[in-house]
Amino acid sequence: MLGKTGVEVPVLALGMIFNVADRQIVLRKALEWGITYWDTADCYTGGNSELGIGKFLKANPDKRKDLFIVTKSDDRAPADIQKLLERSLERMETDYVDLYFIHGLEGPDELTEELKAWVAKTKKSKKIRFFGFSTHGNMAESLTAAAKAGWVDAIMTTYNFREMQDEKMQAAVEACYKAGVGLVAMKTQARQIETEEDKRLTEHFLKRGFTEGQAKIKAVLEDKRISSACTSRGNLAHLYENVAAVLDKTELTQADRELFRQYAQDTCSGYCAGCSNICGLAVPEVPHINNIMRYLMYYNSYGERQDARELFAKIPQNVRDKLLSVDYSQAEARCPQHLPIGRLMAEAVSKLA
Ligand code: SF4
Repeated sequence: MLGKTGVEVPVLALGMIFNVADRQIVLRKALEWGITYWDTADCYTGGNSELGIGKFLKANPDKRKDLFIVTKSDDRAPADIQKLLERSLERMETDYVDLYFIHGLEGPDELTEELKAWVAKTKKSKKIRFFGFSTHGNMAESLTAAAKAGWVDAIMTTYNFREMQDEKMQAAVEACYKAGVGLVAMKTQARQIETEEDKRLTEHFLKRGFTEGQAKIKAVLEDKRISSACTSRGNLAHLYENVAAVLDKTELTQADRELFRQYAQDTCSGYCAGCSNICGLAVPEVPHINNIMRYLMYYNSYGERQDARELFAKIPQNVRDKLLSVDYSQAEARCPQHLPIGRLMAEAVSKLA
C-alpha cells in the first residue's frame, strides 16, 4: 500500500532512465512480471523515456489502466511545472499521471504555498492523481517536512543499507510512515567502486544463496515502511535478478544485517550521503555538491557515462568554472562521510566536463 493513497503498488518499480523507445521489450517483460509501477521524468534520456512510454501506450492503450505511471518536473515555479506536465502527458499518450513528483527536492523550503495551491488545482483537473517529490539530497529534512505538511502523498527517496544506519533518516521515515506518506526507495544499491570490503560482502551473500545486489534489495524491502523499491535502468538481466530477489522469501538474518552495518561503516568514505546542507555551508559557491558526487557515481559505478556528462553539463557554467579553484578543506572537515571532496570534484571535472 502506498501510504494513504489507497493504491497497492508492486514492491519493485521500473526505473526508466534508458532509451525506452528502443527497448520496448523491457516494458513488456516488466508487465509480464507484475512490475506495473513505471518511474520516468521529463528529463530522462532527453525525453526519450517518456516518449517510449507513449510509444508503448499508443500500441497498447488497454494497458494504461494496469499501470501506475510516475513522472517528474525539473521546474519549480507552478506555471513552468504546468507546461512540463502538459508536455509529459502528450509525450506519454495519456490524460493523467498517477503520481507527479518534483524532481530532486533539495530541502523543505521548496515545498511552497504556491506549489501546494498548484497541486490542489491540478488534482481537481484530474491530470494528476497524487503528488510528491523525489529526493537525493537532505532527505531526512525533506521527509520530515512532508510528514508535517499534509499535502504530500508519496516520496521517492534515496534509501539503502547505508541510510538505514542513520538515526535522522530513520526518524524521518517513521514520521512519513505514521503520517501516511507513501515511501519508495531508490539508489538501493549505494554502489561505489569495488573494494576489498565489497568482495567480502559479495562472497558472504553468495554463500547465503543470493547476490550482493539481491541482499541490498531485501534489506530495503524488509523495512515494511517502504512500499516499493525503484530499480533497473533498462537492463533485463538486472531486472530479473531483482524479481528473483523478491520472489525468494529467504529473510536476512541478524548476522547479514550486522554485516551491512559494519560494511557501511567501513566504506563510508566512498559514499556521499546527500547532506549538502552540511558541505554547502562551507562552500556556498558550489551548491549541491551531492549532485556532482551522484553524477560521478553514475559514471564510475553505473557505467552511464553519457547521462552523467549530460547531467553535469546542466550545472550552471559559473559553478562549473569554480570547481577546480574552490578550497574544499572546510567542507571536508565537516563532511560526516569524510569524503575527499576536493579530489572528487577534480575527478568529476576530468571525467564529466
Ligand atoms: S560531500 Fe559529504 S557533506 Fe557533502 S553531501 Fe556528500 S556526504 Fe554530505
